[in-house]
Amino acid sequence: MKNIVVLATGGTIAGVSTSSTDTTGYRSAILTVDDIISQISPLKTIANITSEQFVQLDSADMTHEVWLELARRISSLLEREEVDGVVVTHGTDTLEETAYFLNLVVNSEKPVVLVGAMRPSTSLSCDGPMNLYNAVILASSPQSWGKGVLVTLNDTIHCSREVTKTNTALQDTFKTPDVGNFGYVVDGTPYFYRMPIRKHTYMTSFPIEKIKELPQVDIIYGHVNDRGTLACAAAEAGAKGLVYAGLGNGNMSKHMKDVLGVIQKQGVIVVRSTRVGSGVVTRNGAVDDDQYRFIAADNLNPQKARILLMLALTQTASLEEIQAIFWEY
Ligand code: ASP
Repeated sequence: MKNIVVLATGGTIAGVSTSSTDTTGYRSAILTVDDIISQISPLKTIANITSEQFVQLDSADMTHEVWLELARRISSLLEREEVDGVVVTHGTDTLEETAYFLNLVVNSEKPVVLVGAMRPSTSLSCDGPMNLYNAVILASSPQSWGKGVLVTLNDTIHCSREVTKTNTALQDTFKTPDVGNFGYVVDGTPYFYRMPIRKHTYMTSFPIEKIKELPQVDIIYGHVNDRGTLACAAAEAGAKGLVYAGLGNGNMSKHMKDVLGVIQKQGVIVVRSTRVGSGVVTRNGAVDDDQYRFIAADNLNPQKARILLMLALTQTASLEEIQAIFWEY
């Protein structure tokens, strides 16, 4: 059997409620990793598992500092010959962000799988145990090697670059818009149907060893009659980059182009993403990026674009290089 390390960070998979029919009014991040694992007896038959309670958080409280430490811990575990893969249990609210961050900084071909649950451990038909079982199956599978950081919930396998939470409460909430999930885990067998195309993990130029801290990058949500005050406030508060969750193809009003254009001239990198939820933000499409010196986010959603911009800014301030990074990762 493979040797898998489970690192627990909290979330609903460790959640507890006083009522078994309560699926939203509960306390997350209560059970320890050993409590969770001891409730899933089939785990013993599929891998040798060691576990660490890395942090105990609702994932809304995830921070850059925890990300950096988590990535360092995973990297050092995977460097050990005897460790075959890592599973990270995580709250679902920011799971996609942690997964994409790790996908960009953990320099290893070995499997790293993020998993969560939508129902607390005390709920009727809670999803955590099967999700964690599937995550260990994936982390143990040779098929998962070299595919970047994976996400699994609800029997589906997703690419961390594109997966996103799409429903506040349903178990079938994690989706990969447009391009589709990687595959499924059924009866303990992974079924993969596609490969990631963009650079990740073992191909990264942002290995965690090189990252000391992450620069401040904020997201500004586009809407009708945007006055631009929040963008200006973010720049004044020291943001090194802004991601604009634009309209349609990263579009914005004439007023916002002027506001963000001025902010850009002050040295803040502006990336255009979209609030739409899927599709490409094309360079010089809805906005003349060459004129305003903006970056197009490709099909990264705003929260993923923020992560890539932070990592890009640890290495370069060149607009050309940052745009190239957005086409590559
Ligand atoms: N609030 C929880 C969290 O993200 C939600 C969940 O895990 O499903 O930690």
